[in-house]
Amino acid sequence: MSLTTYLKKKDLDSMEDLLVEEIKDLYDVENRLIDALPKMADAAHNPTLKNAFTEHLHETQRQSQRLERCFERLSMKPERESCDGIKGILEEGETLIKSDGNPQVKDAALVGAAQRVEHYEMAGYGSARTLAQHLRRDDIAEILQQTLNEEGETDHKLTDLAVSVLNPPR
Ligand code: FE
Ligand code: FE
Repeated sequence: MSLTTYLKKKDLDSMEDLLVEEIKDLYDVENRLIDALPKMADAAHNPTLKNAFTEHLHETQRQSQRLERCFERLSMKPERESCDGIKGILEEGETLIKSDGNPQVKDAALVGAAQRVEHYEMAGYGSARTLAQHLRRDDIAEILQQTLNEEGETDHKLTDLAVSVLNPPR
């Protein structure tokens, strides 16, 4: 969920509630990405980029399960809160996937779309991690940190891929 949706529902008066809302938001993000990443892999032309999307799909499934562990530790059932931010980023990606044109240019654009996703996730996980630490829930902070590290590594991988997409071997 976006913070705006949260504020429509209730006042912002407990850090505990805020952490729960952030985790529900991230759970929505990961699950939307489980649907989106196969489409991105299909749309990619460069085989290394295709592989990277498929690999990150598997990682994303594990990240979603990690959030389920967070819910468990909070004695809650997993619940998604629709996230407007990722919806917008993925809508842009969808337009890109459907567009025609030069395959190399399209791949370069797909890398850019994917990096936007990773940065969005990093912002969400970083905030939630810090909030969990503040609440002395180091168990939850540690789980969130694991995923935050993976998203960061994926972002770096995508930067390297951008270079190889732009400079294919001849
Ligand atoms: Fe993720
Ligand atoms: Fe990711």
